[in-house]
Amino acid sequence: MPPSNPRTQKETLIVVAHPDDETLGCAHELLRNSAGCHVLHVTDGGPFEARFWQQAGAASREEYAARRKAELHAAMRVFGLNETQLEMLPVADREAPRQIPTLLAEIAARLRELRPAIVYTHPFEGGHPDHDATAFAVQHACASIQAEGLPLPERREFTGYHARNGEFHSGDFLWEANAIVDAPLAPAEQTLKREALDCYRSQQRVIARFALSPQRWRIAPVYEFTRRPHAGPLYYEIREMGYRFEEFAALAAAVS
Ligand SMILES: [Zn+2]
Repeated sequence: MPPSNPRTQKETLIVVAHPDDETLGCAHELLRNSAGCHVLHVTDGGPFEARFWQQAGAASREEYAARRKAELHAAMRVFGLNETQLEMLPVADREAPRQIPTLLAEIAARLRELRPAIVYTHPFEGGHPDHDATAFAVQHACASIQAEGLPLPERREFTGYHARNGEFHSGDFLWEANAIVDAPLAPAEQTLKREALDCYRSQQRVIARFALSPQRWRIAPVYEFTRRPHAGPLYYEIREMGYRFEEFAALAAAVS
């Protein structure tokens, strides 16, 4: 038996891009295994573009990011997680693709320290450039761990969003891979998830586009991140989130 250290070892590592992604994608795990979860956010949720934080009435990027962090902490208290279970990298919203080497090193470090049995993250679907960069970094961090001879966690992904015929689509995966596990939430769980999501006052317009239940996840496939996830424009290209796929692919290729 390996020595157990309850302060650092966790069964489940949840790696997401933004405050609220953990609840939208992984509420089943946060509800049912709150003591066993460690959550790593790879951005602080504050974009450089002023219109985002000005719309929210914040005076600066930093003020907006601080507000999102406070929302996250309140939401995680609903599930019973404390602040020692939460970490956030100092990366701006929409900058994750440009910070992939940092993401990869930080995620690999958490895998070495926490030795999780399971790691959850986003699928690679062209929904948001930060989500795709996170999926890339998790896949590659797992490969580094494996190359070091350390035990490999089960790499899982939850549903997010992507473009389907040019329209926003959430709640299922873009393309077929491994078997999908449906995790319907009981009414009391849905109430708690709603309460957690209500903490994200700055994100309500986006949150309204997701169903409360079921949660869906599957074993993550091994992605080829330099290939466009689907034909036609990606959701982040349609919404002009700062990247064309070719730019993302070049950043991924530089690390591969
Ligand atoms: Zn997100």
